[in-house]
Amino acid sequence: MTTSGPEHVAVIGAGIVGTCAALALLADGRRITLIDPAPPGGPQAASFGNGAFISPASIIPMSFPGLWRQVPRLLADPAGPLTIRWRSLPALTPWLIRFLLSGATPARVRRTAGILNGLLGDAPGRHAAIALGIGQPGMIRHDGLIYAYPTRADFEAEALSWTIRRENGLDWQELDGGALHQLEPALGPSYRFAAYLPSGAWCTDPGGYVAALAQAAVAGGANRRHARATGFEVMAGKLTAVQTDHGPIACDAALVAAGIASGALARAAGDRVPLVSERGYHVELPGATGGPARPIMPADGKMANSPCATGLRAAGQVELAGTGDAPDWRRAEILLDNMRRAYPALRFDAALLRRWLGHRPSTPDGLPVIGPASGVGGVHYAFGHGHVGLAAAPMTAAIAAAQLAGRPAPIDAAPFAAARFAGRMFRAANR
Ligand SMILES: Cc1cc2nc3c(=O)[nH]c(=O)nc-3n(C[C@H](O)[C@H](O)[C@H](O)COP(=O)(O)OP(=O)(O)OC[C@H]3O[C@@H](n4cnc5c(N)ncnc54)[C@H](O)[C@@H]3O)c2cc1C
Repeated sequence: MTTSGPEHVAVIGAGIVGTCAALALLADGRRITLIDPAPPGGPQAASFGNGAFISPASIIPMSFPGLWRQVPRLLADPAGPLTIRWRSLPALTPWLIRFLLSGATPARVRRTAGILNGLLGDAPGRHAAIALGIGQPGMIRHDGLIYAYPTRADFEAEALSWTIRRENGLDWQELDGGALHQLEPALGPSYRFAAYLPSGAWCTDPGGYVAALAQAAVAGGANRRHARATGFEVMAGKLTAVQTDHGPIACDAALVAAGIASGALARAAGDRVPLVSERGYHVELPGATGGPARPIMPADGKMANSPCATGLRAAGQVELAGTGDAPDWRRAEILLDNMRRAYPALRFDAALLRRWLGHRPSTPDGLPVIGPASGVGGVHYAFGHGHVGLAAAPMTAAIAAAQLAGRPAPIDAAPFAAARFAGRMFRAANR
């Protein structure tokens, strides 16, 4: 319990980041209003449909040396993991340039990975503690994660990534084909090597977890408002209320945790953050048999396969397009085809198959935005987690709670400041 800092905080967005933050702020004794027009953990949120990985190995950013040379080949492959809607290209170009530059050298990748390690290194333990605290310990499982490769040579082709992981303290076991298939008999014989992370965890029901976190926040005293935040009311440079489509909500501070919608709210608080949607897809197969017993990431399919409570899920793909553009369900078909290849004995009822499109809220440098707004006193940010928001949410919440209380954050939060984008010529590419 603390008495310093704002008494009443409006948390904007009830995804994994907003709900974890609401609980952390409640634990500090603050009054919370949790604002979201949609049900927490519903399909509108990235937190609903992700791959369920809570992996300390996710510290490697998407941008890496030489990627720019691979982009044409990746885009030319209709069944590959990356696609772009060409009419979005002009708007996306500034973000893409910055993205490619952010990983252009091993030194840059090392810097980003080191910072992400602070967010992700103890994510499994933090999530386990949160799940226990809300009476849902079974929602976070600690039975390890598998990164499967066709051959050891394919693993070694990613030597830079695994070396950087090792430098950041990650331990894994290397499994040859025999050991791998003993651990995961469903995986096809074309996978003959794996890195097994015993420390990795996963969430059995990402959407249900967020709903349970929001419920726990309300049970703990948070006020839930079904409204869409549209801006801020400010007096003498200081926040007095969050404007919503259902009228103003008076508060002393606000935390912007609205996923892909956060860019527009940050602009209203004085920061131009280059946030775009890396659109991703999932297919989910309720009642499937012949799939993995624990999450596996087959390296060639670039997807997360997780045996969620709602069905066996394949999540992945990066589609660069506007947030409002229609889904291209061929991307989900690719995931399904990849899964069929990875698990030859997979059986499922096609009539039950579910498909989903969601928006990874992504900055070009692979780091989230956590910290105070430049233009409005009392507005803070917790968004832009791209590919790692599920894993990074507990530490993000701990940082935000510390910043609002005026106490030192558990890790150095300077690299997450919105001000890092100030003065640069970036344009948010989402319409
Ligand atoms: C295919 C795919 C696979 C992924 N796999 C993984 C994985 O395995 N592990 C991992 O760690 N991460 C993964 N991610 C990333 C992760 O899902 C996201 O980073 C994370 O969910 C972002 O959480 P969030 O709370 O910031 O945003 P969201 O979950 O999108 O939640 C934002 C909330 O804000 C609400 N909102 C929007 N606008 C407003 C407004 N104006 N006012 C109020 N509320 C508003 C929305 O309704 C929503 O509920 C994956 C993402 C995708 C798409």
